[in-house]
Amino acid sequence: MYSPMDIDGVDYYVKPMNCPYQILIYNSRVHSYRELPLRWAELGTVYRYERSGVLHGLLRVRGFTIDDAHIICRSDQIRDELRRVYEFSMDMLTAFGFEEFAIYLATRPREGKAVGEPERWEQATEALRGALDARGLPYEIDEGGGAFYGPKIDIKVKDTLGRPWQCSTIQFDFNLPERFDMTYTGEDGLEHQPYMVHRALLGSIERFVGCLIEQYAGAFPVWLAPIQVVLIPIADRHAGYAESVAETLKDGGIRVTVDASSERMNAKIRNAQLQKIPYMLVVGDREEAAGTAAVRLRSEEDLGAKPIDEIVATLRRLIDEKSVALT
Ligand code: ZN
Repeated sequence: MYSPMDIDGVDYYVKPMNCPYQILIYNSRVHSYRELPLRWAELGTVYRYERSGVLHGLLRVRGFTIDDAHIICRSDQIRDELRRVYEFSMDMLTAFGFEEFAIYLATRPREGKAVGEPERWEQATEALRGALDARGLPYEIDEGGGAFYGPKIDIKVKDTLGRPWQCSTIQFDFNLPERFDMTYTGEDGLEHQPYMVHRALLGSIERFVGCLIEQYAGAFPVWLAPIQVVLIPIADRHAGYAESVAETLKDGGIRVTVDASSERMNAKIRNAQLQKIPYMLVVGDREEAAGTAAVRLRSEEDLGAKPIDEIVATLRRLIDEKSVALT
């Protein structure tokens, strides 16, 4: 199950894919038709020996993490399961702010490159087509582009510069269940073979993060920003108030930091802008006396002094709505 990776003449044994392990778990005991569908997800680390010349930042790496899942189901469940997975993928990618997609239905590879009977391929392809048609977005047929074990849907997102990135893949599989002898006991008391769907929504998490950084040029929406707010005390004597505002924000579930360095206020603002932190809250004598903070956005927009609870409410709304806007 592990394949050797030859590095400088030494064989390293590493895991190239997650599927076989989930199948082993399934096969570790008997299953009834009533248990299906089983939907098993994992963040699985896998390894590919990419040549050093093609390694590229986060975009192409040798060890990466797939948001991998396998759905094991009966034939009467396959249509609904495929539809759910496709909807899930689109909802997820849309939430990250992608609006343009290139969607492909990849069909049976040419004779000799595919396993399984043509009728089953036809049935599987129709089920995938049904899921695509239900959402109504345009898609293209990738003739012969399916995996050897079944047809698939591939979803690429286009970033703000129009570059396509492969993300979701939904692969129908009626072959591995047969090869690995997976079974369940049907209502009739006999053994049946389940179907299997392999799916990844984001694909390689590392590559997806690289793609997100490109999409936003590092200026993430509030809900995605690693640091959402930086508190900037004007002088040392405002540090205590800045800390107490930061505590209130933290209680509201907001990721916040206090810039208590001895730099001048303008330098602190410039640092925060360079780090593309969405919100800067500047506090001095006036804000401390009034229980407010002066709000500046990464975009240099100055929103003036606001009560702290109003700031928390605005940030909570932006986060909960996964808004790409800053106000
Ligand atoms: Zn798989």
